[in-house]
Amino acid sequence: MKKSNNRISLPGYMHVGRPNIGSRRAFIRRINDVLDARWLTNNGPLVRELEERIAALHEVKHCVAMCNGTTALEIAIQALGIKGGVILPSFTFVATAHALQWQGITPVFCDIDPKTHNLDPRKVEALITPRTTGIIGVHIWGRPCAPEALEQIAKNHSLRLLFDAAHAFGCSHRGRMIGSFGDAEVLSFHATKVFNTAEGGAVVTNDDRLAQKLRYMRDFAFSGYDNVIDLGVNGKMNELCAALGLTNLESFAKFVAANRRNYDRYRKHLAGLPGLTLVEYNAGEKNNWQYVVVEVDEEEADLSRDDLVSFLHRHRILARKYFWPGCHRMEPYRSNYPDASLRLPETERIAGRVLVLPTGAEISASDIEHICLTIGKALHKPMRTGQKSRQKRSKIPDSGNNK
Ligand SMILES: *Cc1c(COP(=O)(O)O)cnc(C)c1O
Repeated sequence: MKKSNNRISLPGYMHVGRPNIGSRRAFIRRINDVLDARWLTNNGPLVRELEERIAALHEVKHCVAMCNGTTALEIAIQALGIKGGVILPSFTFVATAHALQWQGITPVFCDIDPKTHNLDPRKVEALITPRTTGIIGVHIWGRPCAPEALEQIAKNHSLRLLFDAAHAFGCSHRGRMIGSFGDAEVLSFHATKVFNTAEGGAVVTNDDRLAQKLRYMRDFAFSGYDNVIDLGVNGKMNELCAALGLTNLESFAKFVAANRRNYDRYRKHLAGLPGLTLVEYNAGEKNNWQYVVVEVDEEEADLSRDDLVSFLHRHRILARKYFWPGCHRMEPYRSNYPDASLRLPETERIAGRVLVLPTGAEISASDIEHICLTIGKALHKPMRTGQKSRQKRSKIPDSGNNK
């Protein structure tokens, strides 16, 4: 299954992950500038401008833009010299694990704290072995994954610490922007993210030497015209994507405000529905409010998460399960580490409960009211346990991955 937020852009459907797009006119103007200058890629002026703006927004010294978040993760892992085994959550988008396994590094899946949906630092420490060289924390839903606790563990055990901040663009933790924790943090600008460049990503860091290494590694490790100084790859962002990025960045505050409004509306309309808990954000921090996440308690709701998803899909509301069934139950991890689920009880429980609802600038107040009314109908529909499994499966194609 491959990503395709477009495949399900059918009229009349409300779905998760619809791209936020800023001013069309500003975008076209920039595209014309790019074409006039005939500078399409290779560290062009728009990529450099975007890097400066993203670094400033995240209050970090360096932003190294890349062609996507997964490549950014892979290059960061290479540049940090990570090998052997790396501890990470299984409750994440599969790219976090793939970025390791792709380079022959063993992902060691660690369980999460059910309250935060993020890595449980106490469980991280218990998984460290002599083979461990690093930890990847993921700020799921943009909620910081106990970065100080992970920094302390990494320091005590001389481990590299990388954060997958693909969800956390524009978020803060204790007043400090996400982006400067650990050795480096990785952003994704995929179309489904709050801020997008269609495809894109970046590594942000305060480490000057690491930034320099990331810069040459993303460009075949060229240093000057004919001099290759290391192993490298092609991870460059192009000017067209940067043009979209600069344009979307100008509307970023608007996107966040729309998400916030949507979130508050969901909170109002979901209140009192049995068995549903809306995942909360710390309103004292900066959040991007990109993920409206509900936990479904099957007993209390008298309806399973999966049956609720099918019901919504039949009503043209493409709510999504997220990170289900967990990386450890996807290939090649399921075959490689068949016992992983034994130490991931909370991951499995949360992956079975989580539902993500449509949001973004395109979702209106009446859409949300309609979605919540439909959820209410599903919950109040008399349905005995025996009937649940006989419900018709949704015929709507799955949009592929979710992140
Ligand atoms: C989106 C995402 C990625 C991958 O980013 P791409 O830009 O699509 O390669 C990695 N990790 C997480 C948690 C994500 O949500």
